[in-house]
Amino acid sequence: MILHYHPIYSEGLHPDVYFPRDRYRLLADRLQEDAALELRSPRRASREEILLAHDAEYVDRFLAGELTEKEMRRIGLRPWTEAIIERTLLLTGGSLMALEEALRTGGISGNMAGGTHHAFRNEGSGYCIFNDLAICALSALERDEIGQVLILDLDVHQGDGTAAIFQHHPMVHSVSMHAAKNFPARKQQSDWDLPLPKGMGDRDYLNILRQVLEDLESRDVDLLLFQAGVDPLAEDHLGFLELSREGMDERNQQVFAWAHRKGIPVVIFMGGGYARPIERSVECFEDLFRAGAQWHARR
Ligand SMILES: [Zn+2]
Repeated sequence: MILHYHPIYSEGLHPDVYFPRDRYRLLADRLQEDAALELRSPRRASREEILLAHDAEYVDRFLAGELTEKEMRRIGLRPWTEAIIERTLLLTGGSLMALEEALRTGGISGNMAGGTHHAFRNEGSGYCIFNDLAICALSALERDEIGQVLILDLDVHQGDGTAAIFQHHPMVHSVSMHAAKNFPARKQQSDWDLPLPKGMGDRDYLNILRQVLEDLESRDVDLLLFQAGVDPLAEDHLGFLELSREGMDERNQQVFAWAHRKGIPVVIFMGGGYARPIERSVECFEDLFRAGAQWHARR
């Protein structure tokens, strides 16, 4: 399986969250030796690609380094440096390359970043500047063979930007399973929201997910965009759910098995993971991408 990664993904990492070492580098070190995974350097997303999901006024001000203090604060990356522009273009390009790869092979490909689901059409939020899930969904729909896209967002935070962008969109179905009382305070309406109570553990969570996937089984879907944040993990300090590492792995296995039965391509977006210590999140991401590679090999 091909996984997209660039060291610049670490740029602008919130120092309070990731100190002393960041998850991207740690994860790249661990996955480098896996023969089933090929780490590939991403390209930059073009302005035209970003405009698929965003207003030109917002995109151009970001690219010119002209966001306001307030806008940058709401995004929350810091310290805010010029390299964040390059980071954002490469990160979004990494997701688009993963999409191209998944569509080419009919299997699974991923980006070792992204899943920036809090980004709205004309503003960023919660570490997210452009919504790569939305850009990928709309880019995929430009192809004749893609008629219906499912965005399955299992990050512990609601995919509010994604929900808002695709409200009433006939070809993109957004499903978000998240902790009810968590960021963002003001939720948007996905096509299907599953707000979960604080402290939910493996058994209840996996039962609900099984039900969700069963319900989606008969749905006409040509492509799965999987926001695979590992912040439902018990040790996550931005979470509020209590999943174990094994529970997280079972979650991913359920999703990959579902897509395998449907015979559809899958793009993995990394999403959130803020455990203390950060190594606990990194282990879950490692399990995620290794599982993706195994399911990719079975197609
Ligand atoms: Zn999250």
